[in-house]
Amino acid sequence: MIGVGDMVLLEPLNEDSFIDNLKKRFDHSEVYTYIGSVVISINPYRPLPIYTPEKVEEYRNRNFYELSPHIFALSDEAYRSLRDQDKDQCILITGESGAGKTEASKLVMSYVAAVCGKGAEVNQVKEQLLQSNPVLEAFGNAKTVRNDNSSRFGKYMDIEFDFKGDPLGGVISNYLLEKSRVVKQPRGERNFHIFYQILSGASEDFLCKLKLERDFSRYNYLGLDSARVNGVDDAANFRTVRNAMQIVGFMDHETQSVFEVVAAVLKLGNIEFKPESRVNGLDESKIKDKNELKEICELTGIDQSVLERAFSFRTVEAKQEKVSTTLNVAQAQTKVRKKVMGVLDIYGFEIFEDNSFEQFIINYCNEKLQQIFIELTLKEEQEEYIREGIEWTHIEYFNNAIICDLIENNQTGILAMLDEECLRPGTVTDDTFLEKLNQVCATHQHFESRMSKCSRFLNDTSLPHSCFRIQHYAGKVMYQVEGFVDKNNDLLYRDLSQAMWKASHSLIKALFPEGNPAKINLKRPPTAGSQFKASVATLMKNLQTKNPNYIRCIKPNDKKAAHIFNDALVCHQIRYLGLLENVRVRRAGYAFRQAYEPCLERYKMLCKQTWPHWRGPARAGVEVLFNELEIPEEEFSFGRSKIFIRNPRTLFKLEDLRKQR
Ligand code: ATP
Ligand code: MG
Repeated sequence: MIGVGDMVLLEPLNEDSFIDNLKKRFDHSEVYTYIGSVVISINPYRPLPIYTPEKVEEYRNRNFYELSPHIFALSDEAYRSLRDQDKDQCILITGESGAGKTEASKLVMSYVAAVCGKGAEVNQVKEQLLQSNPVLEAFGNAKTVRNDNSSRFGKYMDIEFDFKGDPLGGVISNYLLEKSRVVKQPRGERNFHIFYQILSGASEDFLCKLKLERDFSRYNYLGLDSARVNGVDDAANFRTVRNAMQIVGFMDHETQSVFEVVAAVLKLGNIEFKPESRVNGLDESKIKDKNELKEICELTGIDQSVLERAFSFRTVEAKQEKVSTTLNVAQAQTKVRKKVMGVLDIYGFEIFEDNSFEQFIINYCNEKLQQIFIELTLKEEQEEYIREGIEWTHIEYFNNAIICDLIENNQTGILAMLDEECLRPGTVTDDTFLEKLNQVCATHQHFESRMSKCSRFLNDTSLPHSCFRIQHYAGKVMYQVEGFVDKNNDLLYRDLSQAMWKASHSLIKALFPEGNPAKINLKRPPTAGSQFKASVATLMKNLQTKNPNYIRCIKPNDKKAAHIFNDALVCHQIRYLGLLENVRVRRAGYAFRQAYEPCLERYKMLCKQTWPHWRGPARAGVEVLFNELEIPEEEFSFGRSKIFIRNPRTLFKLEDLRKQR
């Protein structure tokens, strides 16, 4: 074993030793390290030969602590408790952009697919589950400065199993796709992969049908300075995506209409407007070159005059935008209860130079995930000791509930303030929103702003007047208020949705149900912020009913490079992920626990008195067993229903003895 495989065994324990241990292991290609049952994963940025079918076999049906740390061990443990103990599981994968979350989620899925069920029908379900990834990535991932394949949406997938543990299908929820990327990308970044894939990989014939040209530079929406990505073969990926769409279950005509929409979006970016004189006091604009418009209308079956009008006039009215949608990949219907394994791959905490509404929302989501982590791991751990009547010294940890409250409180939270401002009659601007925040939140310990005279931060020149700062659990983040009101309102002009609804293209029509004049809803649709808050609340509720498994991803350097381990960067991530506290709680307590019955069942062969049948209470049997094996007293504690083992080494010893029999 290189370094220490489980941080619980690290001696001495401090930030330096923690980082040194990770580094030593990383230098020897050991990218996984445990904190008890939590897996720390460091992105190697190079293919490692540790995900082969042989490795799958090695980890299959083995106990968590038996082999060296691996994401497969966690996957196996989760799958087996789901299958054998009927406990729904969730795999929570966190970390910043480029840390390896999406790759980790795919590794978990492919491991589970490899070990669960057999047979043609089951295999088809597995294929569908796995092939949902390339489709989602084509439409939802993009090259950013941090990651060549950055997920621009959050993803939660419930994989459903029958009572035998055979997969039935999956339900995917998406969170907050970064829509703005379609029209504008930061310097050095790209639009969503699919646009480049289609232009690179489609046949001449297909491009012609879609009225597209192969040349990226023809399209305003395709960030030109970075249109090609090293090591990425857009053409080959296009074939992969088409194939995946077929396996997932798109019919040919459906695939065709999806690509027609993609083509129409690309072409929309080329439409240019010229200002016209004001007619009746209304601003009007005219389309410069009608050819592109004509082709869009041919692709989508929208009447040209309808679309032109919709582009030129605006009636202010709001539409409902779905933040979270559910896509059924394959849902088998059974009457019995399904077992569920949820896999969450969601954007990590973001601190950029300029942070806007999107970062605010993403960081809010991460606060909530940290809450779940605290509740389920730290708090639950302490409470379990109390429940089991085991002596326990309290460990201090920072509870971020106070920050969640600053953001989501129904009366005084920032999201509530923003909604109030968005719905208020009169002139509403980002500045009036900030003023309001300042009145209500100025005294909150985690809120900082300079706007108000009473502000504690009046002389803090690093905090511009147009910004507020939140002290998140992961660090301070300064948010620019510009755009908050618009983005929260998320308006699409009614004329446009009505024009879209009039399309003879059935997919486009289906995408804009609110454009149906018969269904005009005068009630204001919920804001983007409140929808996100609601979908996060649903997600949290869902996660709380499951047994959590954690993968904490760490990015070793900012260069997307193999073999480089930047101590400072890693240190920052360890701090905000709260990994040291995590170890402390584990160490103060017991690394391993098990109910008496299964414990006795597993180890009774090691003791003459308990083998083959023990005729007393299981607890007494375990006592006899531990006595005979001469396990030191300080190494375990008897709880009300479980045995608690302090050190994983004791467990290794028991496992070794079993193997020798
Ligand atoms: P984002 O938040 O931007 O979506 P992420 O955490 O999902 O980031 P990934 O896309 O999973 O990051 O990983 C970024 C890149 O790092 C991958 O495209 C791959 O090149 C590399 N990588 C990640 N994990 C591994 C791994 N286990 N083995 C080899 N390479 C990896
Ligand atoms: Mg990702």
